[in-house]
Amino acid sequence: MPSTLTGSEQAAEQYVSSVYESVIRRNPHESEFHQAVKEILDSLIPVFARHPKYMKHGILERIVEPERMITFRVPWVDDNGNVQVNRGFRVQFNSAIGPYKGGLRFHPSVNASIIKFLGFEQIFKNSLTGQPIGGGKGGSDFDPKGKSDREIMRFTQSFMTELYKYIGPDEDVPAGDIGVGAREIGYMFGQYKRIRGGYEAGVLTGKGIVYGGSLTRTEATGYGCVYFVNEMLESRGLSFQGSTVVVSGSGNVSIYAMDKATQLGAKVVACSDSDGYVYDPHGINLNTVKRLKEIERKRIREYVDEHPHAVYTEGCQGIWSLPCDIALPCATQNEIDADSAKMLVENGVKAVGEGANMPSTLEAIDVFLKNRVLFGPAKAANAGGVAVSALEMSQNSMRQSWTFEEVDAKLHSIMKNIYQNSVKASEAYGLPGNLVAGANIAGFVRVAEAMLAQGVV
Ligand code: NDP
Repeated sequence: MPSTLTGSEQAAEQYVSSVYESVIRRNPHESEFHQAVKEILDSLIPVFARHPKYMKHGILERIVEPERMITFRVPWVDDNGNVQVNRGFRVQFNSAIGPYKGGLRFHPSVNASIIKFLGFEQIFKNSLTGQPIGGGKGGSDFDPKGKSDREIMRFTQSFMTELYKYIGPDEDVPAGDIGVGAREIGYMFGQYKRIRGGYEAGVLTGKGIVYGGSLTRTEATGYGCVYFVNEMLESRGLSFQGSTVVVSGSGNVSIYAMDKATQLGAKVVACSDSDGYVYDPHGINLNTVKRLKEIERKRIREYVDEHPHAVYTEGCQGIWSLPCDIALPCATQNEIDADSAKMLVENGVKAVGEGANMPSTLEAIDVFLKNRVLFGPAKAANAGGVAVSALEMSQNSMRQSWTFEEVDAKLHSIMKNIYQNSVKASEAYGLPGNLVAGANIAGFVRVAEAMLAQGVV
């Protein structure tokens, strides 16, 4: 069949596929990183076709290569006196628009591929927020599950004893992610302060309120995701009011997504952890989930002991077979595959908002877009967390604290802007309704312009 592409589109397509091939060749066995790069690159073809200047200056070749990737040994002693060794990572991916910024993940699945996919996505997400923050990410294959408080402290202190060399309020500002919450950030901040011998509040975000944290940071990713989905719903005259919602995970992002969805009049009927999911036809009792997961650090299956009408099912995938109007995947990468996406569509899902990073496979995204499901991609929908992290940095610099209402209002307005900018970019490039492309393009252009201005560095 003759190609319908114009000459400049063909050139852009060839350019993008040659960069993608070199990413695969130079980063073998890093499937998650390949997936994240492919999603972005494919949606940038129309940008290169219209603006060949980005091809001439090697923007893409540079943007897929981290500025720096640090790997280090993290030795620590467990409660039985045994020496344990984990691996630490920090990728400093791109600093064109500000200091590197991105969370730390502690989970046994962490490896170079996971850290690079997260760091790469962070570049565009951070750009979309409109704040002056570059892209980074880090973590360790340490498993916090089942560890005592003292073990967590010894591990995080050892981790920071190496990481401190590479971070700082104007260089690189880590935050939390899976397995890294207020407790871990607190221990890491204490160790950083001890080593540096000075109070650099802006070196980490997600801190406790009493020592430089921002109100609303805990809620920000979940709330922001719901604000974003609400914008999408309104574009079709829909709302959370009276809708049925399924949320995966029961960690930080999930809990506050459930909280805000419930505030807006929805009924959240299911949530999960890495073992299985609970379905509660009366609506998930958030106080129980918060106590079980945030305080007692128990498994979600224990929810049914207190709510006998609820049902627990072992395994995570089945959660997507539950009929719902809105699905919010807030646990981890690749949790919705094509089959799960088809099930959601068959059961009438109207909107999907990605609270987690890359929770839908490329095939699943295809299913949602083809079926005109309102789809909020992670880079846009979960950017609220890092946006409020940037607000935390501002407050630290000014030595001020804003009220919950002030920060929440700023978060709300940032999420609206991200939505509008993604819509505008998707329309400008002839892809209306495709917020995956819209978010990628809007995020990319800002970074690319900064890279152009700064020369080949
Ligand atoms: P938490 O550690 O607080 O919670 C993670 C939740 O997901 C837990 O319920 C956990 O279950 C579950 N989970 C983890 N791994 C798996 C897995 N392999 N399969 C099924 N469930 C799993 O992390 P967050 O809520 O902070 O992060 C969740 C997602 O949101 C991640 O993708 C993260 O990158 C993303 N994100 C987080 C931001 C933040 O501000 N925290 C900002 C932007 C994105 P269990 O209890 O069994 O471990």
